[in-house]
Order: sequence, then structure tokens, then C-alpha cells
Amino acid sequence: MNLVQCWIEHPVRAIDQVFTYTCESETEPGVRVEVDFNGRPVIGFVESCETTDETAAEAEARLGVTLKPVIRVLDSESLITPELHDLAMYMRDTTVSTAISCFQAMLPGKVKPQSGRTEAVREKWVSVSDAECSLTPKQLEAFLKVREAGEMRYSELRSMYPNIARALVQKGALNVYEKEKEAVSTVSVPVSAKFTLKEEQQKAMDEITGTDDAVYLLHGVTGSGKTEVYLQLAEKALQEGRQVLILVPEISLTPQMITRVSERFGAELAIYHSGLNPQEKYEQYRKVKNGLARIVVGTRSAVFLPFRDIGLIVVDEEHDGSYKQENQPAYHCRDIAIWRGKYHHCKVILGSATPSLESYARGIRNVYHLVEIPHRINEGLPAVTVIPLKECMKKGQSYIVTEPLKEKIADRLAKHEQVILLLNRRGYHSMLRCRSCQEPLRCPHCDLAMSYHHAEKVMKCHTCGTALRIPKACPSCGSTAGFSAFGFGTERLENELHEAFPQARLLRMDADTTSRKNMHQEILGRFGRGEADILVGTQMIAKGLDYPNVTLVGVINGDEGLARTDFRSCEVTFDLLMQAGGRSGRAERQGEVVYQVYDPDHYAVQAAVRQDYGMFFRYEMQFRHAGMYPPYTYMIALTVSGRKEASVNDLALTLRNMISGDFTVIGVISLLKIRDSFRARLILKGKNLDVMRAAVREALNTVGRGKDIRVDVNPMVLDG
Ligand code: ADP
Ligand code: ZN
Ligand code: ZN
Repeated sequence: MNLVQCWIEHPVRAIDQVFTYTCESETEPGVRVEVDFNGRPVIGFVESCETTDETAAEAEARLGVTLKPVIRVLDSESLITPELHDLAMYMRDTTVSTAISCFQAMLPGKVKPQSGRTEAVREKWVSVSDAECSLTPKQLEAFLKVREAGEMRYSELRSMYPNIARALVQKGALNVYEKEKEAVSTVSVPVSAKFTLKEEQQKAMDEITGTDDAVYLLHGVTGSGKTEVYLQLAEKALQEGRQVLILVPEISLTPQMITRVSERFGAELAIYHSGLNPQEKYEQYRKVKNGLARIVVGTRSAVFLPFRDIGLIVVDEEHDGSYKQENQPAYHCRDIAIWRGKYHHCKVILGSATPSLESYARGIRNVYHLVEIPHRINEGLPAVTVIPLKECMKKGQSYIVTEPLKEKIADRLAKHEQVILLLNRRGYHSMLRCRSCQEPLRCPHCDLAMSYHHAEKVMKCHTCGTALRIPKACPSCGSTAGFSAFGFGTERLENELHEAFPQARLLRMDADTTSRKNMHQEILGRFGRGEADILVGTQMIAKGLDYPNVTLVGVINGDEGLARTDFRSCEVTFDLLMQAGGRSGRAERQGEVVYQVYDPDHYAVQAAVRQDYGMFFRYEMQFRHAGMYPPYTYMIALTVSGRKEASVNDLALTLRNMISGDFTVIGVISLLKIRDSFRARLILKGKNLDVMRAAVREALNTVGRGKDIRVDVNPMVLDG
């Protein structure tokens, strides 16, 4: 008999332990089983299996529990490798989450522990048999096609020889069998030649290949040729017969990375991101597991693919917020990449024009090997102009597109060059206030002001998606005096541009215009082909785009982000301004960048004007030091949520009183209600993360076992 220990599919803290069942057959760790849990059939994920001579009764007596048998074993082979098992345990530990949630985060939907009933898709294949049979000339032609190919999808043969395929099978000339459906292999594209590295690129390359460190931070402004360095490092790893993982923030926003990798390496590429459907994801997963895919470009979750032998991991735009998973387990992709790099003894390259303060501080302290590429390939940086909004407003000018910006746009349009305008807010008006009581119209499910969307004539909550018509009477005071509008978003910006430049062809890219699948690619494709003169959009257009004909980039409300209270506000603002700068003048033509800002003297703005990361880093580190924020400390955010305000606050207070140690606890902080859920937060801040984790774990084990408490170790955002 076998004793199987497994994790149960529910990611609740109360059952974050293994449960033992008996099983006839031996099962491997990482296999899913169906078991009875409290009278219900649930999926379990096998941790270990022990073969014993005991009878069930003897084992029960020894363990002091009643043992139920495994109902059935769901997989014939393990879904994860021993490496991924260890990685899950590392994640459980470092993110203070349940083991099962870590396994779930790692596996594609089809094979998640919670979805044990979905079978992988199978398809029919044919090959020639040894049977002797007489064939018509046409049948012979089809038969030879199959023989030449060795084997072929039955569907493919049928599409080539509609009636003949079946006849061949009936005659016994072909064998039919099923195989698990495999990813359609990426079409092989002409392989593009690599560049001869420029001097600074070559220096960076030599430094990386000539030293033996685990993690490198490659800091280089946009357009300095980092991607070319990644590609040449990747080539080396592939030549050694190893696999390569290139992580990017968001696939739909980084189409150029995929193009460049596939042009260089062709068919051995797999692409992995959240836009794939479960079957597509599963197929890519198999391709990596079988070693068919040797190079992967993917977003956050691609870091968990079952590679056999990784020779290089690149985390491009390592500072990007999308590398952090919001839900439990709130892991950071960079940490996982570094862990796997260690496991595979391969180098991890973190690349960015604006590294996170944490990473750069580590670079300076030689925790990461810091490698710099100081200049752009085409030398020149864009000319940066700052337009102070307050002065324009004093003169009674528009503060959406100011006069000086209008002039510059007109100039570029006359030259048939392209313009990108960035505004980090969508919709038409950002808020409507009651004329009588001044209260903003708020989302009924969240405490947030709703934005007005002109095209659809509705108010939208950008947090929960609720859309409502403007009410006749104010929900707060009942007045019917109407509402006045404040603030503006991309929709209004587009309108204003349309009025100012009626001839110009406009495109808008934001969450409203890209809700349909593939709309990102469509909009960017049209802009890239020169089918529009001006592209308006939220920060989703700031990333990784490389359009040679764009010579002017404007950031409309450049420093709006500074008004937020988050400790990372300045960093996020600086990143946005720098990224916008990187979009202009990528080719030979001199590019120009315009920042419309309220506070032109702020160091985040000033450093961006100079395109000087070092300057920003020095000022920002002083600010972080003064507030004892990361990277000077570590933080853990605990967020309690629930439908009842009083119990949420009570629980937060109980936790507050339980958690103590050599660190500070801030809170209880009441947060805005979101999606009808009240929320309260505690923040732990201190120098020793392990001590803080242990304190949180202990408190949660005591009071938080069944409760909705989110743990976020090293949170990226704290407001809202
Ligand atoms: P980054 O990744 O730092 O933004 P890229 O690798 O995209 O920089 O390089 C910027 C531009 O310069 C790209 O258009 C790229 O094709 C080109 N480029 C990169 N390296 C070279 C080189 N060694 N010689 C010529 N052009 C290069
Ligand atoms: Zn009112
Ligand atoms: Zn809402």
C-alpha cells in the first residue's frame, strides 16, 4: 500500500498543510489526485508518496488519523519538476502564502490543481502502415505524401485530399493514432543578421561574459542597444545547447521584442503571456517541457515554465510594475528569475533605462554586477522642453494642449512627421461634482469618483468597471441643480486635438479603445504604417515602441503622478517622463520631447529633462532615507477586507496588537471601499525581512486562518 501526502486545492491558510490518503498505486510528486475532503471530492496535489508494508488499519493506528483512499489519480506524469517544487516552497516562504496558491500560480490553467477535470486536447495523426493494398494513382500520391513526412496530422491530410484520406484509412494503408495536441510551431522567418556591437555595447558584453556573477544590472538609456546585447548573449547560450528566457512587461505593448527575437532565432521561439487561451498556454508549456522551445519571450508567468536547462534569463524593463503579481502569492517576477538563475547556474540580466531604486542600490553595493551603457546608438538625446502649466493658465490658455505644444505639433504635421501624446487618464472628464453640495458622483460599490465618458454618455468607475448614466438628482443632497465637470482624460484630449487640427489623422489607444482582442496590435500597426499623424494614449503607449518617424512626444500632465501619496510616486513619474523621452527621435532625425507640468522645479522633472538617471537616483535616495522607505527598509503590507466595516477594523486592530518585534507597525489605516469591500491596512517596516515575515506568519496562524487577509511582501504600491 502507498501513503500519499497531498495539498488540497483550496488556497486558505487554515488548510495549508499536507493531508494523507491511501493509494493502490505509487504516485509521483506533482501529480494531481482526486480525494475526499470533508465529504466532498476535491483535487489534491501530491507532495510525496511513501510505500509501506502496513495495512491501512496499521497505518491509521500509527498516524492516529482515519485514512481515506485516493478516489483516482488524474495525471500520468508529474506536472512540475523537482526544481519547480522547490521554487513553490521558496515562494510560500518568502511571500507568506499557501503552498497550493504557489503551485496554482505556476501552472497554466489547464493543469492547475483546481481544474483537474479538464483534459488536454488530443488530435488524430496518421502514418503509413505495412499492409499491402492496391491504391488508385491519387491515393498513391497521398500515401507517398504521408510516407515522405513520416507522420502527419489527419486533419492536414484531409484538407489536402478531402475524400482520399478516409479511403486510405479504411483500406488500412494508413495507421491512425491520437497524440496530445501540440503547439503549432511558430513559422520560421528569415533569420536577420546581428549587428556588430558598438564600442559601449561591446564593453558591456565583455564585462558580462568575462566575469562570473549571478545577476547583472544592465543600465542603459532607451535606444542604447541593450536589446542587441540580450540577443547576442542569447545566441551564446543557444550555441551551448541551453535554453533562454526573455521576460517582458506586457506582450501586447512590446511587439518589437517578439519581432526581433523571432527574426534572429526563428522557429525555436515560444511566446507566453496572459492573452493566450488555456489550450495555447498549455501547448507552449509542453513545448518548453519537451525542449522543443529553446527560447521563450514571455510575461511574468513565463518565469515558471518547466525549462530543463536555462543558459540565460533576461528581465527587460526590470523596474516595471507588472512584474509584481497583485493576488496571492504576491511574488515579484525578478526574485523568481534570480532564484531560477541560481538553480541553473546561469546569468540573470536585469535591464532598464530607469532601474528600480532597489536594484540600482544593489548595483552600487555590488550585490548585482552593475553594467552601464551611457549613450544612445545614434548619439543624440532628444531635445526636452518643459512647459509650465500654471503660467499658461494665468494667460488664460488651454491647459490641455498649451499654445507652445500646439505650435510644435503644427510644425511636425507640416513636415509629415508623427506625434505621440501621452495622458495617463482615460475618459472625457475625470469627475463630476454636484453644483449644490460639491460632492463628486461616486461609484456605488467603491468610494471613488467616477469618470465621464462622452462617447458612451456614461459615468465609469475605473476600478470595478461599473457604468451608470448621469443621475437627474444628486445622490448626496437630492439637488437637481446639475453637475460641473473637472479634469480631463484621453477622450477629451482627442477631441481638443481634433478641433485644433481638423486635418490630422488621430488614433487613440487606452483601455476603452483596446478592450477587444488584438486591438493593441491593430492600433500600433496602423500608426507604424503611417496611417495616422498623432497617437494619443495612456501609459500603455510609453513602452518599448520604436517608430522612426515619430519626432515629437508630448506628456500632457507630466507630473500629475507626484500628487499621489505613494512612496514610489516620484519614481513612477520619472519613469514615465524618461520612457516618453525614449520614444522620440529613435532614428537619424532629431527628436523632441515636451513635458507639460505644474512643478517644473521638482527633481523628478528636472532629472528627466536632463535624461539623467544618476541625478534622480541621488535625490530620490535622500527622500527614501528621510522617510525610511525602501531600499533603506523592507515593508510588508497586510490588507484585511470584508463586507462589514466593523469586523474589518476589529480584525485589523487585533492583528495590530499581536504583531510586534524589531520593526515598526503603521496603522490601522482605513482604505477606500472597493467593489463593496471595506479594507483596512497595516504596514510593517523594518530592516530584517525574515523577522517581519515570521511575525506576520505567527499572527495569521493565530487569528487569520479563515479570514480574507492579503499579504504583500515588498509592495509596489501602497495608496488606494
Ligand atoms: P534598447 O534596447 O537599449 O532600447 P535597442 O537594442 O532597441 O536599444 O537599440 C536601439 C536601436 O539601435 C534599434 O533600432 C537597433 O536596431 C539599433 N542598434 C542596436 N545595436 C546596434 C548596432 N550595434 N549597430 C547599429 N544599430 C544598432
Ligand atoms: Zn449634491
Ligand atoms: Zn467601482
